Amino acid sequence: MSIKIREYPGVHIKTRDLREGKIPLVRWRPKAKYAWSAGAAISRFLNELKEGKIIGRKCRKCGRILVPPRMYCEWCFKPTDEWVYVKDSGTVMTYSISYIAADATRIKEPVIVAVIALDGASPGVGILHKLGEVKPENVRIGMRVKAVWKPREEREGSITDILYFKPI
Ligand SMILES: [Zn+2]
Repeated sequence: MSIKIREYPGVHIKTRDLREGKIPLVRWRPKAKYAWSAGAAISRFLNELKEGKIIGRKCRKCGRILVPPRMYCEWCFKPTDEWVYVKDSGTVMTYSISYIAADATRIKEPVIVAVIALDGASPGVGILHKLGEVKPENVRIGMRVKAVWKPREEREGSITDILYFKPI
């Protein structure tokens, strides 16, 4: 025989009880601060973006050019060897049309996010960025695109120094 509990013992807490001070409540905003090191490869990558350039790392053993750069080649189990500039143009490898903003709210104008294989980087190596100056229905895999940069004085060494990639 099963017993169905229709009412639990105790008193339900209501928002009103908190507001009216019937229940002790402590509010505390911690002064949490943190610093994060981007590391050797990404630091150089970000500084180069400020100059309007995209840089990668080359592994001489497998010949791959990695963008964003990595100091270590996971294929060869060895450090990468040299810095190599790649172009700010490339090819859309895959994309997604998003009607949801970063804070999960619904947006009317969709954001088009794409993986872009940059010219000069190895096949299969791509960066994730936004597409602009193109309607969602006109985006195609294999589409040629080029970076649209922020004005030089507004760049701050961030991936957002590139506003988006537009079709060429
Ligand atoms: Zn390698």
